[in-house]
Amino acid sequence: MTDVEKRQDRSPVPTDWTYAPAPESTDIVKLQDRYELFIGGKWIEAKEHFTTLSPRDESPLAEVAQASEADVHKAVAAAREAFPAWSKLPGSERSKYLFRIARILAERSREFAVLESLNGGKPIKESRDVDLPLASAHFFYYAGWADKLEYAFPNRKPKPIGVAGQIIPWNFPLLMLSWKIAPALAAGNTVVLKPAETTPLTALLFADVLRQAELPPGVVNIVTGDGRTGAALVDSDVDKIAFTGSTDVGKAIQRRVAGTGKRLTLELGGKAANILFDDAALDQAVEGIINGIYFNQGHVCCAGSRLLVQESIYEPAIEKLKKRMATLRVGDPLDKNTDVGAINSREQLDRITALVEAGKDEGAEIYQPPCKLPEKGYWFAPTVFTNVAQSYRIAQEEIFGPVLSVLTFRTPEEAVEKANNTPYGLSAGVWTEKGSRILWMANKLRAGVVWANTFNRFDPTSPFGGYKESGFGREGGLHGLLPYVELT
Ligand code: NDP
Repeated sequence: MTDVEKRQDRSPVPTDWTYAPAPESTDIVKLQDRYELFIGGKWIEAKEHFTTLSPRDESPLAEVAQASEADVHKAVAAAREAFPAWSKLPGSERSKYLFRIARILAERSREFAVLESLNGGKPIKESRDVDLPLASAHFFYYAGWADKLEYAFPNRKPKPIGVAGQIIPWNFPLLMLSWKIAPALAAGNTVVLKPAETTPLTALLFADVLRQAELPPGVVNIVTGDGRTGAALVDSDVDKIAFTGSTDVGKAIQRRVAGTGKRLTLELGGKAANILFDDAALDQAVEGIINGIYFNQGHVCCAGSRLLVQESIYEPAIEKLKKRMATLRVGDPLDKNTDVGAINSREQLDRITALVEAGKDEGAEIYQPPCKLPEKGYWFAPTVFTNVAQSYRIAQEEIFGPVLSVLTFRTPEEAVEKANNTPYGLSAGVWTEKGSRILWMANKLRAGVVWANTFNRFDPTSPFGGYKESGFGREGGLHGLLPYVELT
């Protein structure tokens, strides 16, 4: 008997780890009863309003303006008026504003993180440790480019393009705002931003950051509303549309923009393959696979929603995966121990449920660890499907929820073929000890981002974007400036 085994007889070793509640206080967030439209540096009253909810308990948080077509035109006119002065500012002056915004976001990060989790449902540890640091880092990064554009594009003369209309989704509300606004301003453009209907509150709080940073009026305008507001922005007098969201809406926007001369970038859906070879460090890989799909409840365009496992390690891999899933804590997004928070909206919950039902009907085998879901609010247990065929809807369509589909392969060639066999091409992951195999796979995978022995890593210096139905154009890094400049 070893020393440790001897001691176990005498000192009780806990077999069951339960966590005491660790709620984050919401006192730091001061919500208004009603929010209007941020146009030309002022709050402009809208005619209609809608209620924004907290998905964790369906409680109303605030009334938010529904911008009409006329409101959108007002916002675009304000951005147009602000453009000449803003674009003529020396880059070093523009960068001062961006640095200020970055610093203020970092200073107010706790307030923003709490509001993000309250309005969107993501776990506070994610909004605190991922969304907010990255949002601030994007402004820092692009602040650095504002006075170096001629070095970014050597021997060319980069000029701003004008007014950018930017439409963002609900999965990373503040982070997507930063991805869009920071490069646009750095390059000297002005902006009209439309946040998603279900998560407008951090964008509205961001207007207060702009006030603190003393950004000239009209350089950034924020119009809230539903899809109609987005459509009005697409049809308005903007010079460019930057869109992140579903492939269907992306296609519709592309049709409307065709022939107008407006620039367009689309960052759409994905169905990433996380590819696990038999020589990979299995425990480490399982952590990456869990993070790849259950991070932000799977509301991630680049989520590793398909797991391709090499047949020789299928059994131990699935066993470890299920064991790890059973330790995930699902519940209140504002509890600091929560791993999987609330589903963003009733509509999204219905979409996830319908696709999971389709998976069961088609013959896949479902596993959900035992977990008690809160009664109020929108919830879905972490789910894995095994016995999945390539043709099943759960292997082809973006579920955008905490649902993983597992397929198997024998050879690297088969892994590549299966990984590329979806309409999407946004991201992929490769888990193997062999560097040469990583490089071989990265070359063959039709995906904008390929992670090796890690997943869901983001950095402002690194471009992000897709192939095929995942869209076109890149955000982040030097490439992220390109859609916002005209090169002569
Ligand atoms: P949408 O594509 O509808 O939403 C993205 C943004 O576009 C939102 O601001 C939305 O406004 C706006 N919008 C909606 N209709 C139009 C339109 N006709 N013209 C211009 N803008 C418009 O995504 P959903 O929220 O409906 O989600 C549906 C599915 O899309 C999800 O299940 C998921 O699969 C996928 N999705 C993918 C994302 C990604 O990052 N790749 C992000 C979000 C969703 P509003 O919110 O007010 O409807």
